[in-house]
Amino acid sequence: MDILPKVAIQGEEGSFSHEAGINYWGNAAVFIPKKTAGEVIASVEQEEADYGLLPIENSLIGSISTTYDALLESRLLITGEVITPISHCLLALGKVDVGSIERIYSHPAALSQCSSFIENLAGCEIIPIYDTAGSALKISKEKAQKSAAIASRLAAKLYDLEIIAERLEDYPKNQTRFIITAKEEGPSDQKASKTSIVFTTLHHPGALFDVLKVFNDYGINLTKLESRPHKIETWRYYFYLDFDGHRNDPSVSEALEELQERTNFLKVLGSYPAWKGSKRHALPTLGSMNDKSHLPLYSLERKGSRTVCTLNDERIGTVNIGGGDFTIIAGPCSVEGRKQLFKTANLIKESGVMILRGGAFKPRTSPYSFQGLEEEGLKLLQEARHAYGLYIISEVISPADVELVARYVDILQVGARNMQNFTLLKEIGKSAKPVLLKRGMSATVEEFLLSAEYILSQGNDHVILCERGIRTFETSTRNTLDLSCVPLLKEKSHLPVFVDPSHGTGNRNLVLPMTKAALVAGADGVMVEVHFQPESAMSDGNQSLDSSLYREFIKQIRWLIDRLEG
Ligand code: PEP
Ligand code: MN
Repeated sequence: MDILPKVAIQGEEGSFSHEAGINYWGNAAVFIPKKTAGEVIASVEQEEADYGLLPIENSLIGSISTTYDALLESRLLITGEVITPISHCLLALGKVDVGSIERIYSHPAALSQCSSFIENLAGCEIIPIYDTAGSALKISKEKAQKSAAIASRLAAKLYDLEIIAERLEDYPKNQTRFIITAKEEGPSDQKASKTSIVFTTLHHPGALFDVLKVFNDYGINLTKLESRPHKIETWRYYFYLDFDGHRNDPSVSEALEELQERTNFLKVLGSYPAWKGSKRHALPTLGSMNDKSHLPLYSLERKGSRTVCTLNDERIGTVNIGGGDFTIIAGPCSVEGRKQLFKTANLIKESGVMILRGGAFKPRTSPYSFQGLEEEGLKLLQEARHAYGLYIISEVISPADVELVARYVDILQVGARNMQNFTLLKEIGKSAKPVLLKRGMSATVEEFLLSAEYILSQGNDHVILCERGIRTFETSTRNTLDLSCVPLLKEKSHLPVFVDPSHGTGNRNLVLPMTKAALVAGADGVMVEVHFQPESAMSDGNQSLDSSLYREFIKQIRWLIDRLEG
């Protein structure tokens, strides 16, 4: 027997209804895609699905009339609601320019939420179809060139499309409220309930006022009033009303009785818990033993398998971070210039390491220290990427620079000083690039994981955790490298765990032994600083390996990996 609830959603996998469903049930539901509101309702009525999920209103374009109309005709009840942020992306087959797109497909509601973006596209044909994710599916299936879909980030991932523009909505706080429908009402003991009704009024002056007055008399707060045409009786209306309270509350049930006398027709659509942000509502009747959706997104118990971050550029080769290999990232602390970067990149490439680090934006303790070459540095890193065939990681220190840095690098780095820069974490969470998140120098493991949660909660699930030493009373090393957090993090989380023994110790002679220890402790890799001439480095020379120490480092680590595997 299937213990997960079956939920009919309006749209394909990756639609915003699907996102809303994940927001409500987490992974503890089986979603069944349907094309229309009518099909969703039929699926629940015919008991193919236990629940139906339908959009009912959007903060930019208002009510979704098809849902209101479908509700009136059906016998289903509303058993819940979920409010989900909606952010639209432009998806295409490859990394093409928006200007080269000749056709855009999407759901009409999504098209109207992105009206200013669309108005600015000259000569582009706009084609409304049944679903946002359906339009992404169409482009992917038909390999449609010069075409794009307006759909979710999730759809880009599911249908393997590139995001060529994002945040297309006219206003940033775009949200949609969805309702959950079922054959039976949920439990009646819910706190903070809402009730939805639909009615028609008698036909005399003040008839609507008479109805609304009842709510005033019983001190009941109204949250929404909507009218829809009667369809049979021209110029008469159905009024839909949402208010606070459960139909079994004494004041609500008395008010409903009075309403019977003041209306022509009255139907209670349901009493249900009001949505309270991302706290997921337990479904007491179904699968609660298996429901892990209350656990954080970083949790291994919740996900059940480990995250692997794959870098896959055919000109470079594949790297699987967290897939069981021990991955080495190496390079200078800062990008100082072409000669310095290229000499170091050459050394790294020769050693068989595939990821080059280098800071372009440097978060320095003193404002007078070298702050990095900024975009110039990123350009040099990209040149090195092409010249040597190396993946690039570089730090981003400001939310405003995320897009810029993401254009040049394969992995975004968040530095220790920014581990709790929540605005930065949220912005990075919207990027599709993997992120290496460093532990703050005074952060507990719990705080570290919650910072990762910020990124995961925005939809970016490729986070690599990196221990880089914490502040203790000890001053003989730059920081105290907390290697015990490696097995601890692997126990708590599915995310790959790295160690940075360079910043962790501040001493180049300790980098090799601490890397050996990290490897044995179960780390997925290390990030080390290397400089062809450390004595002249503009930052962190003391902890940087020179060419000969680096070659010895690689030799000994390879030897140890072989021993451990054998
Ligand atoms: C770095 O990796 O260059 C860096 C600044 O490290 P951290 O943020 O760990 O100090
Ligand atoms: Mn450094």
